[in-house]
Amino acid sequence: MKAEILSVGTEILLGDIVNTNSHYLSKELALLGISVHRQTTVGDNEDRLLDAIRSALKDCDIIFATGGLGPTTDDITKETAAKAMGKDLYIHEPSLQRIKGYFRDSARAMTAGNEKQALFPKDAYILENDNGTAPGCVMTNEKGQSIVVLPGPPKEMIPMFEEKVKPYLEKYLDSTIISKALKVIGLGEWDMASRVRDIITGNENPTVAPYAKDFESLLRITAKAENESACRALIDPVVAEIKARIGEYIYGEDDDTIEKVVGELLIRNKLKFACAESVTGGMIASRMLGYEGGMSKVFDEAFVTYSNESKTRYLGVDEVILKRHGAVSEETCHAMAKGLLENTGAQVGLVTTGIAGPDGGSPEKPVGLVYIGVNIKGTITVFRHVFSGGDRNRIRSRATVSALGHLRTELAKELN
Ligand code: ATP
Ligand code: MG
Repeated sequence: MKAEILSVGTEILLGDIVNTNSHYLSKELALLGISVHRQTTVGDNEDRLLDAIRSALKDCDIIFATGGLGPTTDDITKETAAKAMGKDLYIHEPSLQRIKGYFRDSARAMTAGNEKQALFPKDAYILENDNGTAPGCVMTNEKGQSIVVLPGPPKEMIPMFEEKVKPYLEKYLDSTIISKALKVIGLGEWDMASRVRDIITGNENPTVAPYAKDFESLLRITAKAENESACRALIDPVVAEIKARIGEYIYGEDDDTIEKVVGELLIRNKLKFACAESVTGGMIASRMLGYEGGMSKVFDEAFVTYSNESKTRYLGVDEVILKRHGAVSEETCHAMAKGLLENTGAQVGLVTTGIAGPDGGSPEKPVGLVYIGVNIKGTITVFRHVFSGGDRNRIRSRATVSALGHLRTELAKELN
């Protein structure tokens, strides 16, 4: 199915706002297996909008239009779309009642313009707006081509797309759409994508799309088929192929979080955990304790050992090591990891030391240099990273995710 995204709004043409709607819709439609052939932007001008819609209808099956659904006279998208399809508009009584209710609830006065927001072609499929006054709609012509008309504000458009348009499309596509996310730590989005490039480009159903989110990478596999089991049959072999390639970096699926996966490994194996954080300053402890699945059974204690003195006092790091190698060094990280388990009752320890900047970097030890130490019952592994690009807190967040990722892989090795 060929689609066009039509962004309506003079503000976009003037550069006053960034067209995030078309970015969002492009990604979402790709996931649904709907191929976007063109993105067009037009101002709030009836003639040019009519031209744009007619031209899209020459070769597209479906148009996704955003913007211009408001109550004012320059909001003309719905009217123009109906005109292009030769449809008249009528008051849609349930929508009018909803709009009246919206104004009653917010104790604001309704205008004649708001009444126009309830005008739709008789055969339109109405998309209710739970976050504003303007309902959207889908109009379909005799050739089976559709125009999906959505409001401009993203806080209205995105929930409408998620909650109303997607289920409609499933019906319209006469199929079930299922997707599975594989969650990856330890490979950046680009690295991950390049290792499975042929799987990404070689598959149309399911589609395989790489993302980066919250300092992790994600591969979303989306299948479209007649029912759920047919979708799973399409997804499973692709997932198996991806796992064979980059399985060691995949820590979970769908709603899994790294703290949940690590927390469950510790709980299942009855392993007490402690951490000592320098550069991440409590972020690891905070993430771990954010998991509500019974951390009290395994979480022993956490230190923020930011100064050299505290690394010595709480972890017993030898001052000579600190002086000779510096606080941000493999040797200090190793000593922190060793001292952590010696000074606590934990069997599993995680430590960090690094340079988050903006100052303190040097050619040998640049800003972003982070050492992560994992100690499992005395077996210590130290990892070195340079997280380049980004400010202090990006570096700290990336170090936190990376540390939890290393902890998971080391635990998995140890427990196998
Ligand atoms: P309203 O009822 O607010 O007038 P509308 O559906 O008529 O909504 P527009 O008037 O076109 O939409 O745009 C309203 C606001 O929505 C814009 O000022 C902008 O903040 C946001 N917006 C519109 N189009 C986009 C877009 N393509 N990308 C991101 N934001 C957008
Ligand atoms: Mg408007």
